[in-house]
Amino acid sequence: MNINRRQFIKYSAAAFAMLLLDKGPALAAPDQGVERWVKGVCRYCGTGCGVMVGVRDNKVVMVKGDPNNHNRGMLCLKGALLPSVVHAPDRLTQPLIRKEGKLTPASWDEALDLTAAKFKEAMAQFGAQSVGFYGSGQNLTEESYLANKIFKGGLKCNNVDGNPRLCMASAVGGYVTTFGKDEPFGSYEDLDAATCFFIIGSNTSECHPVLFRRIAARKQNDKNVRVIVVDPRVTNTARIADMHLAIRPGTDLALLNAMAHIILNEELDEPRFHSKYAAFKAVEDGKPVDKTFEDYRAFLAEYTPEKAAEITGIPAAAIVKAAQLFASSSATMSLWCMGLNQRVRGVWANNLVHNLHLLTGKLGRPGSTSFSLTGQPNACGGVRDTGSLAHLLPAGRVVANKDHRNQMEALWGLPPDSLHPDPGLFATALFGALGEKVKALLVLCTNPAQSLPNVKKYTQNLRHPGKFMAVIEAFGDAETLKYADVVFPAAFWCEREGVYGCSERRYSLLEKAIDPPGQARPSVNILVDLATRMGVDPKFVPFKNSAEVWDEWRTVSASSAYNFKGMTRERLRKTSGLLWPCPTEDHPGTKIRYVRGEDPNVPADHPDKYFFYGNPNGRATIWLRPHKPAAEEPDAEYPLVMTTGRVIDQWHTGTMTNKVPEIRAAFPNAYVEINVEDAKRLNINNGDSVLVETRRGKLTLPARVGEVCRPGLIFTPFFDAKKLVNELTVDAIDDISKQPEFKICAARIARA
Ligand code: SF4
Repeated sequence: MNINRRQFIKYSAAAFAMLLLDKGPALAAPDQGVERWVKGVCRYCGTGCGVMVGVRDNKVVMVKGDPNNHNRGMLCLKGALLPSVVHAPDRLTQPLIRKEGKLTPASWDEALDLTAAKFKEAMAQFGAQSVGFYGSGQNLTEESYLANKIFKGGLKCNNVDGNPRLCMASAVGGYVTTFGKDEPFGSYEDLDAATCFFIIGSNTSECHPVLFRRIAARKQNDKNVRVIVVDPRVTNTARIADMHLAIRPGTDLALLNAMAHIILNEELDEPRFHSKYAAFKAVEDGKPVDKTFEDYRAFLAEYTPEKAAEITGIPAAAIVKAAQLFASSSATMSLWCMGLNQRVRGVWANNLVHNLHLLTGKLGRPGSTSFSLTGQPNACGGVRDTGSLAHLLPAGRVVANKDHRNQMEALWGLPPDSLHPDPGLFATALFGALGEKVKALLVLCTNPAQSLPNVKKYTQNLRHPGKFMAVIEAFGDAETLKYADVVFPAAFWCEREGVYGCSERRYSLLEKAIDPPGQARPSVNILVDLATRMGVDPKFVPFKNSAEVWDEWRTVSASSAYNFKGMTRERLRKTSGLLWPCPTEDHPGTKIRYVRGEDPNVPADHPDKYFFYGNPNGRATIWLRPHKPAAEEPDAEYPLVMTTGRVIDQWHTGTMTNKVPEIRAAFPNAYVEINVEDAKRLNINNGDSVLVETRRGKLTLPARVGEVCRPGLIFTPFFDAKKLVNELTVDAIDDISKQPEFKICAARIARA
């Protein structure tokens, strides 16, 4: 497809409008002489749209939506333009080794042997905790499971983390602390039944466009549907809202507690639900303690609408109205993403959204659910479910629990008490230790040199002379390659087969459509080769391909509440995905969890309709979590709040979307969005070069002046490798989830 910047922006706008109008794909490209169609999953966001990949002469020539998957044939422009990414000119086609400062072509044996030798040397000299693995929510489930097994089970090293720590860890913490198990309660079908959408900390229209289309369609087709959007920016999501609450950044805890206060005061709660299915808890002196409903009511007493209005900047009447809409609708669905997760109180914010659902009983019925949206295509199915984070083991187990370790030892055929008992290093701690405590690191398909917060601090370590870093990567221009010692060329997307798990617990098979270029290989094979050369017993990693890894992972899952033993490769090939739990080959998958008759983990003869089997008392937890400010609040020196995020057509660090000529031409650069009042005060006009400074660095960016940001707030997207916006962000972390607070830091701006 060849279109210029003007046409692209026109298409982009048209696509957005069509999404709102509930029509088919806006960009109907002509058939490109496709020889065969292969079923797959989009490579980008956590929506996980099913795609049909059109192939001709071993090339992807076209991508269209899969009408049988949840997206019903719809795609956004990013998905439709994937062919340019697959065949980008800078694809890596042979291994590279850094020699005299330059990455130089090498043979597979040289690159594998050198990497294995460096890892073995580090472990021999400094022990197993001196190495590590950093993965991604974009890897296949099989790749994440295998890397986790190799490092935690084979090398006895728990330094296994990944970029979902930067985007989803607080959602995991929220689900686990409230319901006892990770992952959402409901499914995308709830979007079609909800009559009230409570969207907080999510610009769904740009970050999950195809899901947004369903919300917009609900609103267009049913006059009773209400949309509440809580966001300090007037995003395209906010533009369809009945109520847009332009909140002061970092004050959602006060808002959510005030909504609970109003719900109780106006008796809009559902006592039959929360008295039976919820328990109340708070943390005191660092320990969870039981509380009563009356304790909770007393705790909420100070969160009056007026007090919350002072903290949040939202009028008290609007807070009251939002609480009333939430509680009185026939079905309320909450949706959130990075705006709640990338915060030092991210887990608490997640808990407080769940609280509202537990108080009002708006859970476990069509349209009533508390649903975290995921940023990446396989953060859920790949990293969260396989336990590929430093504190986790597969299928909801945790490293710190001896029983869980013993279960995994038995499943992996290891001697009892052989797994390392301590959690490993989480993302920022892992890169913070690089070169010192951690000597050798393997990175699989992610770009930490651009995506870590306060990134200059960590790139110093990436340059550390005492570190060795091997990177498995598909593209030659990722920022992280500047610091790699060895690079392995990876098969990309539909050049190999494997499973993706999207936000709704749906596992879908990405089938192999074409061969990888040059000497590029599937990451599963690279990992097996590396493991055996590092000394891992070949019987521990007997896999020739991802299908064999999947079969083992299915079996491992069968002893857990994540059970998807029934999802054979054959079934996944025939369907457009299944939702776990799915314990047997005739099970249809599970759309609603924790409900008798819906979730196979709830016994058919359980006396109660709901059973929160992840918690020892069988109840979900309503947490008493007070309002706390952000880690870095604005002050006289840095009077503004800076927030970062995505834009609709660029994705993450831009390594893929920048390969698409139309996207690159239309959205070439980062910019800074400034409220018109702030711009006027600072004498800044649209398009001016603006110096943006925080305590960690400064960047010059073109100004976009308007009314999208609320006064006092600036926004910058982080896709542009020429302008590393993460040099400015703060790396303060949530003390439960260890997720950094990308969304809020103090900044100042001036005309450059
Ligand atoms: S909404 Fe997400 S998954 Fe769907 S086509 Fe767009 S980027 Fe891909």
